[in-house]
Amino acid sequence: MQRYFLTEPYEVKEHYTITGENYHHIVRVMRMESGQQVFLAFSDQLAIIAEIIDITEEAVFLKEISKEQAEKELPVNVTIACGYPKGDKLEWVVQKGTELGSHRFIGFPAKASVVKWDSKKLVKKTDRLKKIATEAAEQSHRQFVPDIVLLEKEQELMDVFSRYDKVLIAYEESAKVGERSRFATALSELVVGESILIIFGPEGGFSPAEIEKFQEYGGVVCGLGPRILRAETAPLYALSAISYQFELV
Ligand code: SAM
Repeated sequence: MQRYFLTEPYEVKEHYTITGENYHHIVRVMRMESGQQVFLAFSDQLAIIAEIIDITEEAVFLKEISKEQAEKELPVNVTIACGYPKGDKLEWVVQKGTELGSHRFIGFPAKASVVKWDSKKLVKKTDRLKKIATEAAEQSHRQFVPDIVLLEKEQELMDVFSRYDKVLIAYEESAKVGERSRFATALSELVVGESILIIFGPEGGFSPAEIEKFQEYGGVVCGLGPRILRAETAPLYALSAISYQFELV
């Protein structure tokens, strides 16, 4: 069943009205008719099953059939921050990371980032990544679409550390010296409803000076096991481990 994300919070209504891009998708792409059902996911993460009752030239009208029961979101709020990697790797991280439950993605220019995006390019990239996140959220039955934030300066990342309950930096040099416990310890200390920011470097990794600065702001470095993962693999490893910790029994 198709899933449509709405920008307003859930409210009990006699009928729900869909216009714009979602209307186009329902009517022109899916060619749906009255009687067919879709999921409507509201901005407050509540989703309902709704049935089409009427279609006009401008709007689709639907009535609620039932609430969607299953909880689809990770019980902890995870933000993945990536130093800008080359090519379309950030797109890959956003698509797969959305399927794995990330709440927000932050991109930032790390010292070793090869790509240099000006503010105009960042706006275009943000729009593209939002579209990718929306499609992945639909596909994976998420209850909301993760935020996308692309920063112009690395310092802006440190400015948001204080908003999180925990800040971890996945550091290849920690992995190389056998650090294996901090990631697992941080996850075991994390309580349902809390937030965690995990930071990943680009292909060239992090410089010692960068790590020092992150630590000054309260970030904790950790290893993610004995193998060195590609820049686009490491965030997916971390998200999978978080799902294992909190969602499997
Ligand atoms: N060029 C670096 C080197 O040769 O050591 C490797 C950088 S790695 C491709 C890119 C990023 O993935 C790292 O900066 C780190 O954030 C993360 N990463 C990869 N493997 C990791 C591991 N085993 N432990 C912690 N972080 C890792």
